[in-house]
Amino acid sequence: MTDNSEFLKAAYFTLGCKLNFSETSTIGKMLSERGILKAAKGETPDICVVNTCSVTEVADKKGRRLIRSLASRYPQATIAVTGCYAQLKPQEVASLPGVDIVLGSNEKLRMADYIDSWLKTHQKHVEVTPPLEISDFRTSCERGDRTRFFLKVQDGCDYFCTYCTIPFARGRSRSGNIDQLVDMARDAARSEGKEIVITGVNIGEFGKDNNQKLFDLLRRLDEVEGIERFRISSIEPNLLTEEIINWTATEARAFMPHFHIPLQSGSDKVLRLMNRRYDTALFASRIEAIRDAIPDAFIGVDIIAGARGETPEEWEKSLRFAENLDITRFHVFPYSERPGTKALLLGDAISQEEKHRRVAQLTALSDRKMEAFMNRHKGVIRPVLWEQASGEDFMHGLTDNYIRVEAPIRQELINTVSNVRLDAIHPEEPEMMIASHV
Ligand code: SF4
Repeated sequence: MTDNSEFLKAAYFTLGCKLNFSETSTIGKMLSERGILKAAKGETPDICVVNTCSVTEVADKKGRRLIRSLASRYPQATIAVTGCYAQLKPQEVASLPGVDIVLGSNEKLRMADYIDSWLKTHQKHVEVTPPLEISDFRTSCERGDRTRFFLKVQDGCDYFCTYCTIPFARGRSRSGNIDQLVDMARDAARSEGKEIVITGVNIGEFGKDNNQKLFDLLRRLDEVEGIERFRISSIEPNLLTEEIINWTATEARAFMPHFHIPLQSGSDKVLRLMNRRYDTALFASRIEAIRDAIPDAFIGVDIIAGARGETPEEWEKSLRFAENLDITRFHVFPYSERPGTKALLLGDAISQEEKHRRVAQLTALSDRKMEAFMNRHKGVIRPVLWEQASGEDFMHGLTDNYIRVEAPIRQELINTVSNVRLDAIHPEEPEMMIASHV
Protein backbone atom coordinates (compact mmCIF):
# COMPACT_ATOMS: atom_id res chain seq x y z
CA MET A 1 0.00 0.00 0.00
CA THR A 2 1.20 3.59 -0.49
CA ASP A 3 3.14 5.34 2.26
CA ASN A 4 0.20 7.41 3.39
CA SER A 5 -2.33 4.57 3.26
CA GLU A 6 -2.56 4.55 7.06
CA PHE A 7 -4.46 7.79 6.72
CA LEU A 8 -6.93 6.52 4.14
CA LYS A 9 -10.53 5.81 5.02
CA ALA A 10 -12.93 3.60 3.09
CA ALA A 11 -16.71 3.54 3.04
CA TYR A 12 -18.61 0.37 2.07
CA PHE A 13 -21.90 0.10 0.21
CA THR A 14 -23.65 -3.23 -0.34
CA LEU A 15 -26.70 -4.13 -2.40
CA GLY A 16 -28.40 -7.50 -2.58
CA CYS A 17 -28.05 -10.75 -0.69
CA LYS A 18 -26.57 -11.85 2.63
CA LEU A 19 -23.63 -13.32 0.78
CA ASN A 20 -22.76 -9.89 -0.59
CA PHE A 21 -22.95 -8.37 2.89
CA SER A 22 -20.67 -11.04 4.23
CA GLU A 23 -18.19 -10.55 1.37
CA THR A 24 -18.18 -6.76 1.87
CA SER A 25 -17.16 -7.36 5.50
CA THR A 26 -14.35 -9.62 4.29
CA ILE A 27 -13.14 -6.90 1.90
CA GLY A 28 -13.31 -4.37 4.77
CA LYS A 29 -11.24 -6.68 6.97
CA MET A 30 -8.64 -7.15 4.22
CA LEU A 31 -8.37 -3.40 3.64
CA SER A 32 -8.07 -2.68 7.33
CA GLU A 33 -5.20 -5.20 7.55
CA ARG A 34 -3.44 -2.91 5.07
CA GLY A 35 -4.11 0.18 7.13
CA ILE A 36 -7.24 1.45 5.35
CA LEU A 37 -9.77 1.99 8.10
CA LYS A 38 -13.52 2.20 7.85
CA ALA A 39 -14.73 5.79 7.49
CA ALA A 40 -16.86 6.87 10.43
CA LYS A 41 -20.41 8.06 9.83
CA GLY A 42 -20.30 11.56 8.31
CA GLU A 43 -16.57 11.30 7.52
CA THR A 44 -15.55 11.87 3.88
CA PRO A 45 -14.12 8.62 2.52
CA ASP A 46 -11.01 8.39 0.33
CA ILE A 47 -12.24 5.12 -1.13
CA CYS A 48 -15.80 3.94 -1.81
CA VAL A 49 -16.23 0.19 -2.24
CA VAL A 50 -19.54 -0.72 -3.87
CA ASN A 51 -20.66 -4.37 -3.88
CA THR A 52 -23.51 -4.56 -6.40
CA CYS A 53 -26.37 -6.96 -7.10
CA SER A 54 -27.95 -7.82 -10.43
CA VAL A 55 -30.84 -10.05 -9.48
CA THR A 56 -33.30 -7.74 -11.29
CA GLU A 57 -33.22 -4.69 -13.57
CA VAL A 58 -34.16 -2.67 -10.50
CA ALA A 59 -31.01 -3.91 -8.74
CA ASP A 60 -28.85 -2.71 -11.68
CA LYS A 61 -30.59 0.65 -11.57
CA LYS A 62 -30.01 0.98 -7.82
CA GLY A 63 -26.32 0.24 -8.41
CA ARG A 64 -26.05 2.94 -11.08
CA ARG A 65 -27.89 5.46 -8.92
CA LEU A 66 -25.67 4.72 -5.92
CA ILE A 67 -22.44 5.04 -7.92
CA ARG A 68 -23.55 8.33 -9.51
CA SER A 69 -24.50 9.78 -6.13
CA LEU A 70 -21.16 8.72 -4.59
CA ALA A 71 -19.26 10.28 -7.50
CA SER A 72 -21.03 13.59 -7.00
CA ARG A 73 -20.84 13.53 -3.17
CA TYR A 74 -17.18 12.48 -3.02
CA PRO A 75 -15.57 13.68 -6.26
CA GLN A 76 -12.04 13.07 -4.87
CA ALA A 77 -12.71 9.50 -3.76
CA THR A 78 -11.52 6.36 -5.53
CA ILE A 79 -14.59 4.35 -6.50
CA ALA A 80 -14.17 0.57 -6.69
CA VAL A 81 -17.14 -1.49 -7.87
CA THR A 82 -17.59 -5.24 -7.66
CA GLY A 83 -20.47 -7.75 -7.36
CA CYS A 84 -22.85 -9.34 -9.83
CA TYR A 85 -23.66 -6.15 -11.79
CA ALA A 86 -19.93 -5.48 -12.24
CA GLN A 87 -19.39 -9.09 -13.38
CA LEU A 88 -22.26 -9.04 -15.88
CA LYS A 89 -21.83 -5.51 -17.28
CA PRO A 90 -18.26 -4.39 -16.58
CA GLN A 91 -18.06 -1.84 -19.40
CA GLU A 92 -21.35 -0.24 -18.44
CA VAL A 93 -20.12 0.07 -14.84
CA ALA A 94 -16.69 1.33 -15.94
CA SER A 95 -18.33 4.12 -17.96
CA LEU A 96 -20.18 5.52 -14.95
CA PRO A 97 -18.75 8.77 -13.57
CA GLY A 98 -15.92 8.47 -11.06
CA VAL A 99 -15.45 4.70 -11.34
CA ASP A 100 -11.76 3.73 -11.08
CA ILE A 101 -11.86 -0.01 -10.45
CA VAL A 102 -14.31 -2.66 -11.69
CA LEU A 103 -13.84 -6.22 -10.43
CA GLY A 104 -15.79 -9.37 -11.27
CA SER A 105 -16.67 -12.23 -8.93
CA ASN A 106 -13.31 -13.98 -9.25
CA GLU A 107 -11.42 -10.78 -8.47
CA LYS A 108 -13.76 -9.50 -5.75
CA LEU A 109 -11.75 -10.67 -2.76
CA ARG A 110 -8.52 -9.35 -4.24
CA MET A 111 -9.88 -5.82 -3.94
CA ALA A 112 -7.04 -4.73 -1.62
CA ASP A 113 -4.41 -5.56 -4.29
CA TYR A 114 -6.27 -3.61 -6.97
CA ILE A 115 -6.73 -0.59 -4.69
CA ASP A 116 -3.06 -0.76 -3.85
CA SER A 117 -2.17 -0.78 -7.54
CA TRP A 118 -4.57 2.10 -8.30
CA LEU A 119 -3.09 4.22 -5.53
CA LYS A 120 0.38 3.70 -6.96
CA THR A 121 -0.36 4.09 -10.68
CA HIS A 122 -3.81 5.71 -11.02
CA GLN A 123 -4.42 3.29 -13.84
CA LYS A 124 -8.02 2.22 -14.22
CA HIS A 125 -8.68 -1.50 -13.65
CA VAL A 126 -11.54 -3.41 -15.29
CA GLU A 127 -10.89 -7.06 -14.42
CA VAL A 128 -13.55 -9.68 -15.01
CA THR A 129 -13.09 -13.43 -15.47
CA PRO A 130 -15.57 -15.18 -17.86
CA PRO A 131 -18.28 -17.04 -15.86
CA LEU A 132 -17.18 -20.59 -16.68
CA GLU A 133 -13.65 -19.81 -15.51
CA ILE A 134 -14.64 -18.32 -12.16
CA SER A 135 -12.94 -20.58 -9.66
CA ASP A 136 -11.99 -18.39 -6.72
CA PHE A 137 -13.61 -19.48 -3.46
CA ARG A 138 -12.94 -18.16 -0.02
CA THR A 139 -14.84 -19.22 3.02
CA SER A 140 -15.74 -16.39 5.31
CA CYS A 141 -17.51 -15.98 8.61
CA GLU A 142 -18.49 -12.38 9.11
CA ARG A 143 -20.21 -10.67 11.97
CA GLY A 144 -23.64 -9.25 11.11
CA ASP A 145 -24.20 -7.78 14.58
CA ARG A 146 -23.07 -8.69 18.07
CA THR A 147 -25.03 -11.92 18.19
CA ARG A 148 -25.06 -13.13 14.59
CA PHE A 149 -22.42 -14.29 12.11
CA PHE A 150 -22.80 -15.23 8.44
CA LEU A 151 -20.81 -18.31 7.44
CA LYS A 152 -20.28 -18.61 3.69
CA VAL A 153 -20.08 -22.32 2.87
CA GLN A 154 -20.72 -22.33 -0.89
CA ASP A 155 -20.73 -20.02 -3.92
CA GLY A 156 -21.98 -20.18 -7.52
CA CYS A 157 -24.70 -22.33 -9.04
CA ASP A 158 -25.02 -25.01 -11.73
CA TYR A 159 -28.80 -24.93 -12.02
CA PHE A 160 -29.28 -22.39 -14.81
CA CYS A 161 -32.90 -21.56 -14.09
CA THR A 162 -34.08 -19.82 -17.24
CA TYR A 163 -34.87 -16.47 -15.57
CA CYS A 164 -31.69 -16.20 -13.50
CA THR A 165 -28.33 -14.57 -14.23
CA ILE A 166 -26.56 -15.77 -11.07
CA PRO A 167 -24.66 -18.69 -12.66
CA PHE A 168 -23.21 -16.13 -15.11
CA ALA A 169 -22.47 -13.64 -12.35
CA ARG A 170 -21.01 -16.00 -9.75
CA GLY A 171 -19.85 -18.98 -11.80
CA ARG A 172 -20.22 -22.72 -11.11
CA SER A 173 -20.90 -24.22 -7.70
CA ARG A 174 -17.90 -24.31 -5.33
CA SER A 175 -17.78 -25.34 -1.67
CA GLY A 176 -15.68 -24.74 1.41
CA ASN A 177 -13.92 -27.44 3.36
CA ILE A 178 -15.79 -28.83 6.39
CA ASP A 179 -12.81 -28.70 8.81
CA GLN A 180 -12.08 -25.11 7.86
CA LEU A 181 -15.74 -24.08 8.18
CA VAL A 182 -15.99 -25.70 11.62
CA ASP A 183 -12.86 -23.79 12.70
CA MET A 184 -14.47 -20.55 11.54
CA ALA A 185 -17.60 -21.34 13.54
CA ARG A 186 -15.38 -21.93 16.61
CA ASP A 187 -13.76 -18.53 16.04
CA ALA A 188 -17.21 -16.93 15.88
CA ALA A 189 -18.08 -18.57 19.23
CA ARG A 190 -14.82 -17.22 20.73
CA SER A 191 -15.88 -13.73 19.53
CA GLU A 192 -19.17 -14.05 21.47
CA GLY A 193 -21.24 -15.00 18.43
CA LYS A 194 -24.33 -16.92 19.45
CA GLU A 195 -25.99 -17.50 16.10
CA ILE A 196 -24.62 -18.51 12.72
CA VAL A 197 -26.55 -18.11 9.48
CA ILE A 198 -25.23 -20.52 6.86
CA THR A 199 -25.04 -18.69 3.53
CA GLY A 200 -24.33 -19.58 -0.08
CA VAL A 201 -25.94 -19.24 -3.50
CA ASN A 202 -27.26 -22.81 -3.71
CA ILE A 203 -26.38 -24.28 -0.31
CA GLY A 204 -27.92 -27.66 -1.07
CA GLU A 205 -25.20 -28.16 -3.70
CA PHE A 206 -22.55 -27.98 -0.98
CA GLY A 207 -19.89 -30.65 -1.48
CA LYS A 208 -20.80 -31.60 -5.02
CA ASP A 209 -17.44 -30.29 -6.24
CA ASN A 210 -15.26 -31.73 -3.46
CA ASN A 211 -16.99 -34.96 -2.41
CA GLN A 212 -18.32 -33.71 0.89
CA LYS A 213 -21.88 -33.85 2.17
CA LEU A 214 -24.06 -31.00 3.38
CA PHE A 215 -25.50 -33.27 6.07
CA ASP A 216 -21.97 -33.95 7.42
CA LEU A 217 -21.28 -30.21 7.51
CA LEU A 218 -24.49 -29.56 9.46
CA ARG A 219 -23.73 -32.31 11.99
CA ARG A 220 -20.19 -31.07 12.57
CA LEU A 221 -21.33 -27.45 12.98
CA ASP A 222 -23.98 -28.54 15.44
CA GLU A 223 -21.21 -29.75 17.77
CA VAL A 224 -19.51 -26.34 17.98
CA GLU A 225 -19.71 -25.25 21.60
CA GLY A 226 -20.91 -21.73 22.31
CA ILE A 227 -22.99 -21.37 19.14
CA GLU A 228 -26.56 -21.70 20.32
CA ARG A 229 -28.33 -21.27 17.01
CA PHE A 230 -27.83 -22.17 13.37
CA ARG A 231 -30.09 -21.25 10.49
CA ILE A 232 -29.76 -22.17 6.81
CA SER A 233 -30.39 -18.97 4.87
CA SER A 234 -32.19 -20.74 1.99
CA ILE A 235 -32.28 -24.19 0.42
CA GLU A 236 -33.79 -25.58 -2.78
CA PRO A 237 -36.75 -27.93 -2.05
CA ASN A 238 -35.26 -30.85 -3.98
CA LEU A 239 -32.07 -30.58 -1.90
CA LEU A 240 -33.80 -30.26 1.47
CA THR A 241 -33.83 -33.96 2.28
CA GLU A 242 -36.10 -35.74 4.76
CA GLU A 243 -32.86 -36.74 6.50
CA ILE A 244 -32.09 -33.06 7.21
CA ILE A 245 -35.67 -32.30 8.23
CA ASN A 246 -35.92 -35.26 10.62
CA TRP A 247 -32.49 -34.62 12.09
CA THR A 248 -33.43 -30.96 12.73
CA ALA A 249 -36.60 -32.16 14.44
CA THR A 250 -35.13 -34.85 16.64
CA GLU A 251 -31.36 -34.82 17.07
CA ALA A 252 -29.92 -31.44 16.19
CA ARG A 253 -28.84 -29.42 19.22
CA ALA A 254 -28.80 -25.94 17.70
CA PHE A 255 -30.45 -26.03 14.25
CA MET A 256 -33.56 -23.91 14.53
CA PRO A 257 -37.09 -24.82 13.44
CA HIS A 258 -36.87 -22.40 10.55
CA PHE A 259 -36.68 -23.05 6.80
CA HIS A 260 -36.50 -20.73 3.81
CA ILE A 261 -37.38 -22.53 0.58
CA PRO A 262 -37.85 -21.09 -2.91
CA LEU A 263 -41.03 -22.22 -4.68
CA GLN A 264 -41.10 -19.57 -7.46
CA SER A 265 -44.35 -20.84 -8.97
CA GLY A 266 -47.24 -23.04 -7.96
CA SER A 267 -47.82 -24.10 -11.58
CA ASP A 268 -45.99 -27.18 -12.86
CA LYS A 269 -45.98 -25.77 -16.36
CA VAL A 270 -44.29 -22.56 -15.25
CA LEU A 271 -41.81 -24.51 -13.08
CA ARG A 272 -40.82 -26.47 -16.18
CA LEU A 273 -40.42 -23.26 -18.20
CA MET A 274 -38.24 -21.94 -15.39
CA ASN A 275 -36.11 -25.11 -15.50
CA ARG A 276 -36.66 -25.66 -11.79
CA ARG A 277 -35.67 -29.12 -10.52
CA TYR A 278 -38.93 -30.09 -8.80
CA ASP A 279 -42.66 -30.04 -9.30
CA THR A 280 -45.45 -28.86 -7.03
CA ALA A 281 -46.00 -32.40 -5.69
CA LEU A 282 -42.42 -32.60 -4.44
CA PHE A 283 -42.66 -29.11 -2.94
CA ALA A 284 -45.90 -29.96 -1.13
CA SER A 285 -44.37 -33.18 0.21
CA ARG A 286 -41.41 -31.25 1.69
CA ILE A 287 -43.74 -28.82 3.44
CA GLU A 288 -45.78 -31.73 4.81
CA ALA A 289 -42.63 -33.45 6.03
CA ILE A 290 -41.57 -30.30 7.89
CA ARG A 291 -45.01 -29.78 9.39
CA ASP A 292 -45.23 -33.42 10.50
CA ALA A 293 -41.82 -33.33 12.14
CA ILE A 294 -41.85 -29.73 13.46
CA PRO A 295 -45.39 -28.33 13.65
CA ASP A 296 -44.27 -24.86 14.81
CA ALA A 297 -41.47 -24.37 12.28
CA PHE A 298 -41.31 -21.03 10.51
CA ILE A 299 -41.41 -21.73 6.77
CA GLY A 300 -40.63 -18.76 4.50
CA VAL A 301 -41.19 -19.33 0.77
CA ASP A 302 -40.02 -17.28 -2.24
CA ILE A 303 -42.48 -16.88 -5.09
CA ILE A 304 -42.32 -14.95 -8.35
CA ALA A 305 -45.40 -13.28 -9.82
CA GLY A 306 -45.92 -12.69 -13.53
CA ALA A 307 -43.18 -14.88 -15.03
CA ARG A 308 -43.30 -15.43 -18.78
CA GLY A 309 -45.67 -18.27 -19.53
CA GLU A 310 -47.79 -17.56 -16.44
CA THR A 311 -51.03 -17.33 -18.41
CA PRO A 312 -54.24 -16.47 -16.50
CA GLU A 313 -54.90 -20.21 -16.20
CA GLU A 314 -51.42 -21.02 -14.82
CA TRP A 315 -51.60 -18.01 -12.49
CA GLU A 316 -54.88 -19.33 -11.04
CA LYS A 317 -53.23 -22.74 -10.48
CA SER A 318 -50.24 -21.09 -8.85
CA LEU A 319 -52.39 -18.99 -6.55
CA ARG A 320 -54.54 -22.00 -5.51
CA PHE A 321 -51.41 -24.02 -4.77
CA ALA A 322 -49.95 -21.14 -2.72
CA GLU A 323 -53.19 -20.77 -0.75
CA ASN A 324 -53.21 -24.43 0.23
CA LEU A 325 -49.60 -24.56 1.41
CA ASP A 326 -49.21 -24.71 5.17
CA ILE A 327 -46.34 -22.23 5.30
CA THR A 328 -45.66 -19.12 7.39
CA ARG A 329 -45.12 -16.41 4.83
CA PHE A 330 -44.19 -15.68 1.23
CA HIS A 331 -41.43 -13.45 -0.06
CA VAL A 332 -43.05 -12.15 -3.22
CA PHE A 333 -41.01 -10.92 -6.20
CA PRO A 334 -42.39 -9.50 -9.44
CA TYR A 335 -40.79 -11.30 -12.39
CA SER A 336 -37.97 -9.18 -13.80
CA GLU A 337 -36.82 -9.51 -17.41
CA ARG A 338 -33.07 -10.08 -17.56
CA PRO A 339 -31.34 -9.47 -20.90
CA GLY A 340 -29.58 -12.59 -22.16
CA THR A 341 -31.70 -15.08 -20.19
CA LYS A 342 -33.52 -17.95 -21.89
CA ALA A 343 -36.75 -16.93 -20.19
CA LEU A 344 -37.14 -14.11 -22.72
CA LEU A 345 -37.83 -16.72 -25.40
CA LEU A 346 -40.50 -18.56 -23.42
CA GLY A 347 -44.09 -17.42 -23.59
CA ASP A 348 -45.55 -13.93 -23.67
CA ALA A 349 -44.55 -11.19 -21.27
CA ILE A 350 -47.12 -10.25 -18.62
CA SER A 351 -48.06 -6.56 -18.47
CA GLN A 352 -46.68 -4.51 -15.57
CA GLU A 353 -50.19 -3.77 -14.39
CA GLU A 354 -51.11 -7.46 -14.25
CA LYS A 355 -47.81 -8.29 -12.55
CA HIS A 356 -48.55 -5.73 -9.83
CA ARG A 357 -52.04 -7.16 -9.38
CA ARG A 358 -50.58 -10.65 -8.86
CA VAL A 359 -47.92 -9.34 -6.47
CA ALA A 360 -50.64 -7.61 -4.44
CA GLN A 361 -52.71 -10.81 -4.27
CA LEU A 362 -49.77 -12.91 -3.12
CA THR A 363 -48.70 -10.27 -0.61
CA ALA A 364 -52.20 -10.18 0.88
CA LEU A 365 -52.17 -13.99 1.09
CA SER A 366 -48.77 -13.90 2.78
CA ASP A 367 -50.01 -11.33 5.33
CA ARG A 368 -52.97 -13.57 6.20
CA LYS A 369 -50.73 -16.60 6.66
CA MET A 370 -48.26 -14.67 8.81
CA GLU A 371 -51.04 -13.30 11.00
CA ALA A 372 -52.49 -16.78 11.47
CA PHE A 373 -49.02 -18.12 12.40
CA MET A 374 -48.54 -15.39 15.00
CA ASN A 375 -52.06 -15.78 16.38
CA ARG A 376 -51.33 -19.48 16.92
CA HIS A 377 -48.46 -18.40 19.14
CA LYS A 378 -50.42 -16.10 21.50
CA GLY A 379 -49.74 -17.17 25.08
CA VAL A 380 -46.99 -19.57 24.00
CA ILE A 381 -43.55 -19.63 25.66
CA ARG A 382 -40.52 -19.61 23.32
CA PRO A 383 -36.79 -18.95 23.69
CA VAL A 384 -35.47 -15.64 22.30
CA LEU A 385 -31.91 -14.59 21.47
CA TRP A 386 -31.70 -10.93 22.48
CA GLU A 387 -29.99 -8.39 20.25
CA GLN A 388 -28.37 -5.11 21.19
CA ALA A 389 -31.08 -2.75 22.52
CA SER A 390 -31.78 0.20 20.24
CA GLY A 391 -33.68 2.40 22.71
CA GLU A 392 -33.97 2.76 26.46
CA ASP A 393 -37.18 0.91 27.08
CA PHE A 394 -37.35 -2.16 24.85
CA MET A 395 -35.20 -4.93 23.51
CA HIS A 396 -35.73 -7.08 20.46
CA GLY A 397 -34.85 -10.56 19.36
CA LEU A 398 -36.01 -13.62 17.46
CA THR A 399 -37.63 -16.74 18.80
CA ASP A 400 -36.16 -20.09 17.77
CA ASN A 401 -38.89 -20.23 15.12
CA TYR A 402 -38.10 -16.77 13.77
CA ILE A 403 -40.82 -14.62 15.28
CA ARG A 404 -39.52 -11.11 15.95
CA VAL A 405 -40.40 -10.00 19.49
CA GLU A 406 -40.24 -6.89 21.62
CA ALA A 407 -39.98 -7.02 25.41
CA PRO A 408 -39.07 -4.62 28.25
CA ILE A 409 -35.33 -4.07 28.34
CA ARG A 410 -33.14 -6.19 30.61
CA GLN A 411 -29.53 -5.35 29.78
CA GLU A 412 -28.14 -8.49 31.40
CA LEU A 413 -30.01 -10.64 28.87
CA ILE A 414 -28.48 -9.09 25.75
CA ASN A 415 -26.72 -11.71 23.61
CA THR A 416 -28.23 -14.52 25.66
CA VAL A 417 -31.22 -16.79 25.14
CA SER A 418 -34.12 -16.59 27.58
CA ASN A 419 -37.77 -17.58 27.56
CA VAL A 420 -40.65 -15.21 26.90
CA ARG A 421 -44.39 -15.50 26.71
CA LEU A 422 -45.72 -14.18 23.41
CA ASP A 423 -48.61 -11.92 24.41
CA ALA A 424 -49.95 -10.14 21.33
CA ILE A 425 -49.19 -8.95 17.81
CA HIS A 426 -47.47 -5.56 17.98
CA PRO A 427 -50.04 -2.84 17.18
CA GLU A 428 -47.61 -0.90 14.96
CA GLU A 429 -45.46 -3.72 13.58
CA PRO A 430 -47.69 -6.47 12.23
CA GLU A 431 -44.77 -8.92 11.88
CA MET A 432 -43.63 -8.55 15.49
CA MET A 433 -45.04 -9.82 18.80
CA ILE A 434 -45.04 -8.15 22.18
CA ALA A 435 -43.63 -10.50 24.80
CA SER A 436 -43.11 -10.72 28.57
CA HIS A 437 -40.09 -12.23 30.30
CA VAL A 438 -40.90 -15.42 32.20
S1 SF4 B 1 -30.99 -22.23 -8.23
FE1 SF4 B 1 -31.79 -21.17 -10.05
S2 SF4 B 1 -32.55 -19.21 -9.19
FE2 SF4 B 1 -31.16 -20.09 -7.64
S3 SF4 B 1 -29.16 -19.16 -8.11
FE3 SF4 B 1 -29.23 -21.13 -9.17
S4 SF4 B 1 -29.96 -20.60 -11.25
FE4 SF4 B 1 -30.45 -18.86 -9.94
